[in-house]
Amino acid sequence: MPKAAAAARYALTYLSWPLVFFSGLTGAHFAFASDTPMVLFAAVYAVEVLLLFALERIIPYEKGWLLSDGETANDIAHTVLTKGLVELAALAAVIFPMLAARLLQPIAAMQFTLWPSHWPMVFQASLAVIIAEFGLYWAHRIAHERLFFWRFHALHHSVTRLWVINTGRFHVMDSLFKVALSQIPLYLLGAPLQVFWWLGAVTAFIGILTHCNVDMRTGLFDLVFSTPRLHRWHHSKDLREGNTNYGENIVLFDQIFRTYFNPDRPSSTDIGIKGQIAPDFLGQLKQPFTKDGVRQILGRQPKRG
Ligand SMILES: [Zn+2]
Repeated sequence: MPKAAAAARYALTYLSWPLVFFSGLTGAHFAFASDTPMVLFAAVYAVEVLLLFALERIIPYEKGWLLSDGETANDIAHTVLTKGLVELAALAAVIFPMLAARLLQPIAAMQFTLWPSHWPMVFQASLAVIIAEFGLYWAHRIAHERLFFWRFHALHHSVTRLWVINTGRFHVMDSLFKVALSQIPLYLLGAPLQVFWWLGAVTAFIGILTHCNVDMRTGLFDLVFSTPRLHRWHHSKDLREGNTNYGENIVLFDQIFRTYFNPDRPSSTDIGIKGQIAPDFLGQLKQPFTKDGVRQILGRQPKRG
């Protein structure tokens, strides 16, 4: 490879993470200030997904992960279902407090003064990311440490390759649990809608970054944000590596609760679970609700007779 091309590739490994994250947030800033915030935000998100899709082909972390695993349609179906239901739940969460506020006006008035709405939006959004992260961290950690929740979360870990398209492959129950624990505190504190938009934007861009198959060197970012390098350890088949780095957006609570893991070697590409996940979308949705399904998820033999 010519020297200039090699230098460009090398520079790209350092630039790609901040490029995607900060260009995404800049795009979100303009989208949220427009008359059609959600449409424009979806366009910005699509551009960042395409950018990562291209980078995966230019500087892949693991070449083998460029090959199909036959799960693409399932990944997209889970993403769409989860996103749709979570939006509905969010809508309900906005409407119900409004109805409740009419009935319980004194309490509602007290609650709605707690959020620091006078702060600049960048500080309000940062505060929301930290508060939501506490719920995200524990929802995720519980999903790994309690079998009742692992049966849903295993779907996300069943993939044998990481790439931008399987970012949203979550069982819908897994997502609802995570959203409830992370967003209810913000509703109770009276955070305004724009704060939820910003939390959604940060989560969306960090999400596609953590799952992308791009050889990114993230250096000091690893100390603050959940990065692809940290998240690959989390997907490792080896549970000493995998039961770490639960942070969704930031790693503050991994550092506080001592689950932060970032040894000085390339992160694992041997990812997946010991159990078996159903091959089709509906089967995957149903599997955690049947006894035999759960046994398969856990890698145990089904009972006969
Ligand atoms: Zn996990």
